[in-house]
Amino acid sequence: MTDLQRHPAAALDVPALVARARAAAGPDGSLPVGDVVTWDTFPFEPDGLRLRELDDPVVPEPQRSDEDAGTCARCARPDERFAWTDDAWRVSAPDSVSVPSVILDRRAHGDLGDLDDEAAADLGRMIVRVERALAAVPGVGRVHVQRWGDGNGHLHVFFSARPAGMLQLRGLVMPLWTLHLPALPDDEWAAIVASVVARLDAGRT
Ligand SMILES: [Zn+2]
Repeated sequence: MTDLQRHPAAALDVPALVARARAAAGPDGSLPVGDVVTWDTFPFEPDGLRLRELDDPVVPEPQRSDEDAGTCARCARPDERFAWTDDAWRVSAPDSVSVPSVILDRRAHGDLGDLDDEAAADLGRMIVRVERALAAVPGVGRVHVQRWGDGNGHLHVFFSARPAGMLQLRGLVMPLWTLHLPALPDDEWAAIVASVVARLDAGRT
């Protein structure tokens, strides 16, 4: 008997999860603020901070953008709008960023779970290539790789470079910091993008 046959009824009981959380909330409906606010990396002053009350689950969830291949804006985007492309992958660089950040798109429509084994292996290779290209830029301390997938149905992976020595930006709080830091100068960012593109070109097989 396989593990799957042994656990045929496995399911996440979301209403029960929300009910447990609400039962654990204080009289103001808010869960206690956790130790995260004491982390050296936490971007906000903790005084007066409180968690929002949990909303009811929305089922079915609203459609994401670009779920359908026929109307997908990511598929329709011409190669000229990307910093680097090959037969299967396209890398874009936002016009304005506070830390060096690029996005890897799969050329073919589909989400992460749609990849066959060959495409999945190829994605792994591309993630490593983009990470290396961004990490090689002087001043980059570490490269964070994120795939969220809540807003858009066409697979794309975010790469964000943590500036060297900026230890407050370590880990999961970096996206919150990057929303508040000023934009890089255009010429500095353009040179970094050119360097990443050159390294991706050099790694082309
Ligand atoms: Zn698409």
